Amino acid sequence: MDFPQRFGVIVIGGGHAGTEAALAAARMGVETLLLTHNIETLGQMSCNPAIGGIGKSHLVREIDALGGAMARATDQAGIQFRVLNARKGPAVRATRAQADRILYKAAIRHALENQPHLTLFQQAADDLIVEQGRCVGVVTNMGLRFHADAVVLTAGTFLGGVIHVGMENHQGGRAGDQPSNALARRLRELPFRVDRLKTGTPPRIDGRSVDFSIMEEQWGDTPTPVMSYLGRVEDHPRQVCCHVTHTNERTHEIIRSGFDRSPMFAGVIEGVGPRYCPSVEDKVNRYPDKTSHQVFVEPEGLNTHELYPNGISTSLPFDIQLAAVRSIRGFENAHITRPGYAIEYDFFNPQDLKHSLETKHMPGLFFAGQINGTTGYEEAGAQGLLAGLNAALMSQEKAPWTPRRDEAYLGVLVDDLITMGTREPYRMFTSRAEYRLLLREDNADLRLTGKGRELGLVDDERWAAYNDKREGMAREQARLSATWVRPGTAAADKVNALVDKPLPHEYSLLDLLKRPEIDYHALVDAAGLEPETPPVVEQMEILAKYAGYIDRQEAEIARLRAAEHQRVPVDFDFGQVQGLSNEVKQKLAEVRPETIGQAGRIPGVTPAAISLLLIYLKKHQ
Ligand code: FAD
Repeated sequence: MDFPQRFGVIVIGGGHAGTEAALAAARMGVETLLLTHNIETLGQMSCNPAIGGIGKSHLVREIDALGGAMARATDQAGIQFRVLNARKGPAVRATRAQADRILYKAAIRHALENQPHLTLFQQAADDLIVEQGRCVGVVTNMGLRFHADAVVLTAGTFLGGVIHVGMENHQGGRAGDQPSNALARRLRELPFRVDRLKTGTPPRIDGRSVDFSIMEEQWGDTPTPVMSYLGRVEDHPRQVCCHVTHTNERTHEIIRSGFDRSPMFAGVIEGVGPRYCPSVEDKVNRYPDKTSHQVFVEPEGLNTHELYPNGISTSLPFDIQLAAVRSIRGFENAHITRPGYAIEYDFFNPQDLKHSLETKHMPGLFFAGQINGTTGYEEAGAQGLLAGLNAALMSQEKAPWTPRRDEAYLGVLVDDLITMGTREPYRMFTSRAEYRLLLREDNADLRLTGKGRELGLVDDERWAAYNDKREGMAREQARLSATWVRPGTAAADKVNALVDKPLPHEYSLLDLLKRPEIDYHALVDAAGLEPETPPVVEQMEILAKYAGYIDRQEAEIARLRAAEHQRVPVDFDFGQVQGLSNEVKQKLAEVRPETIGQAGRIPGVTPAAISLLLIYLKKHQ
């Protein structure tokens, strides 16, 4: 049967990619269908109940700046908030929240159910409707046919999913869920390059069987951070403590004794796992000299005793899991509520995608999330938002929007995937961004909310808050540059108490703020002024203290853009350019770009490589 309503966009899958995709398309006013296996699992965290962290919080803030749900849901569900790298520079500062997984799901479901233009439907998508090579709809497992202008697929770990615990394995999308085999088979018939990846999760533990008194406590930060630009501490539920314990030599011995029954080492698992989130057996195997690994003991929620022991993800047989867990300090009597497991699943080579996340082989079909070879809720949510908004733009017959690498981590993520592909689950790090001082978690709104508003993604409340912040910044910039501290005044005496040497002459407050030892609040207090709001203060401090570095990065971006049309000599020998990797030299030699712009668009040729090329050309021409 054909479903009576035609949609602008259909999103398959209600995980982190799918929910952001569906919300984005619907926010843009496009009639959207979110088709998912089970409405009860919308927004489910398959693994660790935590959002954010280094590199990842940058993506969460970008989703938020574009009106997405992840950050606001985190504020409503977060039971412990911390700012990581708080003492380091602003580029690498990252907010991380431990979440109550039930509250998180409830917040996402609330957002979905209250989103105009969005229809939810519970059913498995088994097939795509393809007309003249174009994807125009979806067929469900009961033969229901939904038609749309564009389809976004976000099937996560479900395509051909196989779950492993020791040498036992069975088909599954994640523990407790059926896999998507019919759709996986159908997609394998299409001309996409498919491969296998794997990821894993630790056993969960009943908190009543744990001795917390002998573990290190870890509390959240005070004042409590928020994740969303619109977040308020009052929105947070009760905050709780996490704990830290460690594996030991006995744990490692037990783990080694299970190597012969490890599906990973026995070659039963073929998919490649995440290098940066290895299983505990992987860690013990790779670092034989390390006698201990940290285990963060994180609550799964406020109304459950279950704990997530972060750091001991495993697919070893259950007897080994139990013995290894019970060898850990504080876990001597631990009861495992759910065994750890690994899952293998199909993913598609992201090099078969356009920057809009539309597939190259099938117009109208977009891919987002784990199926593109990434790992993590934040990476999935960010891609979902981009795919959803571009699917909506397609339905509106408008050109796609894709952020550049110097605009957003979202731009870095998608560009990395599309130009380089991935052989292992890809996760975001701040080190992947060339311009990380410009792409901070504190300024994602300043970078993206204007564009979000233009695209129809940003509502009036967010738009007003964003404009307040911008106006506050402009006002404060003017006030600080117009307020002077003159030697011999009471204000100067107060400022002198903050610095090594007394002020030799007059300075504007803006100049004084550039000094690392002068804090904004002490400075405005010395000048007898009232402070601005915290978001404005944060920007004033960063922009003043890092002005030199920020200007340099902006100048470099401008230089690269200006060099777009600069010609590369026809017979140029790329091998001469010092600092370029052999891989980049080879790619440039193969393609022989005529201009710098063309060189920059070759997959795998980074802006850093282009900079080196430009320096060389300038010197030798
Ligand atoms: P998912 O969250 O998997 O959502 C997919 C959705 O699609 C589900 O709602 C599903 O029901 C639905 N669906 C699938 N097929 C169909 C269909 N045919 N029809 C209708 N609906 C369909 N990430 C980390 O960062 N670190 C980790 O350590 C980590 N460990 C993990 C361990 C395990 C065991 C698993 C399963 C995942 C782990 N992850 C980890 C990954 C993290 O869960 C994913 O990155 C994230 O959930 C991906 O989001 P997604 O939206 O792409 O897919």
